[in-house]
Amino acid sequence: MTAVPVTIGRAPQAPADAAPADLGAGLVDTHGRVHRDMRISLTDRCSLRCTYCMPEQGNEWLARTSILSTDEIVEVAQTAAALGIRTFRLTGGEPLLRTDIVDVVRRVAAISGPDGPVEVAMTTNGIRLGEVLPDLIEAGLTRLNISIDTINREKFAALTRRDRLDDVLAGIAAAAASELTPLKLNAVAMRGVNDDELVDLVEFAMEVGAQLRFIEQMPLDSGHTWDRDAMVTREDILAALSERFGLEPVPGRGGAPAEKWRIDGGPHEVGVIASVTAPFCGACDRLRLTADGQFRNCLFSLTEYDVTTALRAMPADAAPSERSGVIAGILQACVHGKLPGHAINDPSFLQPARGMNAIGG
Ligand code: SAM
Ligand code: SF4
Repeated sequence: MTAVPVTIGRAPQAPADAAPADLGAGLVDTHGRVHRDMRISLTDRCSLRCTYCMPEQGNEWLARTSILSTDEIVEVAQTAAALGIRTFRLTGGEPLLRTDIVDVVRRVAAISGPDGPVEVAMTTNGIRLGEVLPDLIEAGLTRLNISIDTINREKFAALTRRDRLDDVLAGIAAAAASELTPLKLNAVAMRGVNDDELVDLVEFAMEVGAQLRFIEQMPLDSGHTWDRDAMVTREDILAALSERFGLEPVPGRGGAPAEKWRIDGGPHEVGVIASVTAPFCGACDRLRLTADGQFRNCLFSLTEYDVTTALRAMPADAAPSERSGVIAGILQACVHGKLPGHAINDPSFLQPARGMNAIGG
């Protein structure tokens, strides 16, 4: 990727002798939101080129030397867990492209915070899942989201610029046969691409025993082609599904991004993640770590908090407690800097320089 023109927030450093067990007040922002969930991007590279995410020729990739090592990821995750993060979701780019993915899952799953062992989830395009799923489960993976926007082979090839639908379906079949439940499938709804297929996607998900969640397309494509007037909204999705299904709202959403509806009285459910037309920022409990070690407090943030440079600048003999104190200071500054909400709907909105694949969806 080209240089990332963002403000790099340098954090006030926590006391050098702070240990993970006494890192203080946790991850509460100035609006009272407590952060329990961290998305860790393992790579910006991908086996697909979804039009809403990446340009056809790919990006200028992050330099390999800037990508966090597994040791660094684990070190950051340990401190985040000590501060109250309970769930780590591994993402990318495509997380299964990381050659040591099973080791990453195993080592993150071994972390405990004040409330006990953390949970490790993953968002993947499903390619390679058939091969590695048993190892991932044995290593401690507990939840899985697979992205599939169409079950039509030609449309899939056009949308992702790769003819890999069969590989994704094999990954979904493997996941559906596994003990990772509930399996969630993500689909970005797009006008003229898959908006004629919304009911079919829900029926496909029900057949494999998964829950489908439609995502409103967000302005996060590296090609900057998002057009608000062309997007398929939450209302459009519900209108299309209501022509075929009875939909009854499921109460108790909490901090979850998806609103859910019970289909025809249950047990199946469908979700909608309406980040654009019905933002849920007030309940957001999520933080992000990019593959090159930048903390982000929002998908749409223009500010990043650089943990890589700080860690790599420390003397080789720095004590683990000193290193975790530095990580904690940077993470707490990131949380402190979180705005009450994103500004997608504001005329002054500026799209982040990184595309979704480099932020970590
Ligand atoms: N490669 C994996 C995958 O596709 O599941 C993980 C990374 S991907 C960036 C994570 C999620 O972000 C996917 O469900 C994808 O559909 C979604 N996504 C990517 N770009 C998006 C956009 N512009 N608007 C909405 N969702 C997007
Ligand atoms: Fe790759 Fe996921 Fe982006 Fe598609 S959405 S290009 S699968 S990172």
